[in-house]
Amino acid sequence: RTKMKKILQDLSLEELEAELTAQGEKKFRAAQIYGGMLSGKTIEELPAVPNALKEKLLQTYENAPVSVEKVFYSSDGTEKYLFRLSDGNIIEGVLMKYKYGYTQCVSTQVGCRMGCRFCASTLNGLIRNLTAGEILSQILVVNALHKGDPDLPGSGKEKRAVTNVVLMGSGEPLDNYDNVVKFLRLLTSEKGLNVSARNISLSTCGVVPEMYRLANENIPLNLTVSLHATADEDRKRIMPVANKYSIAEILKACKNYFEKTGRRYYFEYTLIDGENCDEAHANALAKLLKGLPCHVNLIRLNEVKERTLKSVGDKNAYRFMGWLEKQGISATLRRQIGSDVGGACGQLRAGYLEENPL
Ligand code: SAH
Repeated sequence: RTKMKKILQDLSLEELEAELTAQGEKKFRAAQIYGGMLSGKTIEELPAVPNALKEKLLQTYENAPVSVEKVFYSSDGTEKYLFRLSDGNIIEGVLMKYKYGYTQCVSTQVGCRMGCRFCASTLNGLIRNLTAGEILSQILVVNALHKGDPDLPGSGKEKRAVTNVVLMGSGEPLDNYDNVVKFLRLLTSEKGLNVSARNISLSTCGVVPEMYRLANENIPLNLTVSLHATADEDRKRIMPVANKYSIAEILKACKNYFEKTGRRYYFEYTLIDGENCDEAHANALAKLLKGLPCHVNLIRLNEVKERTLKSVGDKNAYRFMGWLEKQGISATLRRQIGSDVGGACGQLRAGYLEENPL
């Protein structure tokens, strides 16, 4: 592992201006550098910036904080990415193509310390947090690869491929709170990628105090909580975080999020065979959520080879959704996309590291 320099992409335009002018550079250089950086250029590639200034920048900042290690192309258009960080760590991401634009799933940590039993991201614990700029750079790199794709909706020179972002890659976003909020500000900034908060979803396993903090940040994104169980005792079996925060506390934090932001919230419920998908579970879930301004996303488990938990078949997944709908709970079964190139949720990275140890 090499020691890391600073990350240029951590800075807002104003912060970059301040840094450069303090060093005696002209203010317009900041806008020039920032524009190049937003279009995914490395420092070496920055257009119109004098070589002397590039060299000066390279003494302080990483040339390419995130680079593409490998892409897996699915037959349905989905792309799964392995990215390499400048210290050699590997993270993963997914690009999903929809009619309205592209949705990118980003990672917020290398590994994870939450220990969910169905998840591969947590197999080796938390390695480190990503900085705001490392999270942002995952999108900058993918945008650059898809610049000018013929199937992109919309037009204009500001057109960028990634219009929607989900924080559902490896890591627990609320366990890396400050960097994640900084990333969200950079991402939604008019001077940055200008992605609307409404097009951003943040998924958490339910770190309750940070759910309250997030409600006060004035970033009205879609808050999604990974529930996966209807009773605390069951949830504790698959999610260690349930030992710390109860389902009742999570629901209170969601209510507060709705009151503060006006945004309805979402629950993820991964269907695990023999664990959480009987009719009794559907009824219990409906009872918990009845009348709340929320929506349930049902997920089929991506089986992780290091784990014993099993997925349910399509028939049982639709049956579970039917039970919820019958009781007036709005639910969708998440389409399984790109499964021909393996799951994500840390499985890509785990498989890759097995073959290519760091
Ligand atoms: N730490 C955040 C984001 C993680 S990943 C969270 O817990 O929400 C996004 C979703 O994928 C979560 O709902 C997570 O529980 C789910 N997930 C993780 N591993 C999975 C697997 N093997 N199969 C299906 N869903 C999985």
